[in-house]
Amino acid sequence: MKIAIVGYGNLGRGVETALLQQPDMEAVGVFTRRDPASLTSQIPAYALKDLPQHEVDVAILCGGSATDLIEQSPDIVRHCNIVDSFDTHARIPEHFAHVDAAAKESDHAALISTGWDPGLFSLMRILGLAVLPNGSVDTFWGKGVSQGHSDAIRRIPGVVKAVQYTIPREEAVARVEQGQGEGLTARDKHLRECFVVAGSEADQEAIRHTIVTMPNYFADYDTEVHFIDEATFDANHTAMPHGGQVIRHGHTSEGTPQVMKFSLDLASNPEFTASVNVACARALYRAYQEGRRGCMTIFDLPLAYLLPISAEELRANWL
Ligand code: NAP
Repeated sequence: MKIAIVGYGNLGRGVETALLQQPDMEAVGVFTRRDPASLTSQIPAYALKDLPQHEVDVAILCGGSATDLIEQSPDIVRHCNIVDSFDTHARIPEHFAHVDAAAKESDHAALISTGWDPGLFSLMRILGLAVLPNGSVDTFWGKGVSQGHSDAIRRIPGVVKAVQYTIPREEAVARVEQGQGEGLTARDKHLRECFVVAGSEADQEAIRHTIVTMPNYFADYDTEVHFIDEATFDANHTAMPHGGQVIRHGHTSEGTPQVMKFSLDLASNPEFTASVNVACARALYRAYQEGRRGCMTIFDLPLAYLLPISAEELRANWL
């Protein structure tokens, strides 16, 4: 299977690492909007505009959800099959419709919004719903770095470097596991902890106040802000760990509680997301070879297609 990487940021580098470990995949190249010579990729880098000149079975799109994928996914699916990890949950139906129309017009297949959330967590949410329809589901994120919240802090005047960790509250997790999660607010479920390097002239109290009162990001949470020096930041806060859990609590009959849990503990969010996307590229290409066209999500693909293993071997060793 010939796989292209579109966009070379954190996720693009993770896809390159994952691709080089697959027995059944060939990395065609990295395709970027920047000068290809400026990238330090292990596989050849090309200008994105030259993608149509290459033979590609699936392009894994690694652009950002905020502005890149909304345009790139419907555009690139006109040239080849695509996988993306669009994660703006509220806009998934709109994104799906655009990609679906472009894919059907050009006789290609697309898989959008995969990764771990949306992605593996979504699968677990619907498995819980199918098995325990009489119940409720909660998702906790962290402990991990939220890029969006870290970016929001970095935009505050006087901030030199910043990172924000989302931390689930153990007491909230315990309540959900016991089926007593109803009514938990955002503040009850997660804490936000920020590590900030401020400029030497900056007013740290003003920065702290701007962070903890920031609407949509921090105002609805309990937020701790720690000011640290740049050396400590560089030594302790440049990795991108993440994780979380999906917990479904339900009853199969009165007085019979059942709990389903799925959790992730990730040293590198982009490398893990990339590994999901590479497996999904395999599944999408197998569906494409069977004649499937248009846009799909992880809900629509057979799980067996994710692996480079025959159905016979799966039944013998993994069922
Ligand atoms: P990122 O590092 O900001 O990269 C996004 C794009 O920006 C790249 O594809 C690259 O495109 C460009 N870029 C990267 N570094 C650059 C630089 N130094 N200068 C100029 N442009 C640069 O974003 P990311 O961390 O890889 O995340 C990508 C997306 O993945 C996120 O927006 C998020 O939506 C999604 N995601 C999803 C999940 C999930 O579970 N579903 C999990 C994690 C992330 P060019 O090479 O074309 O310039």
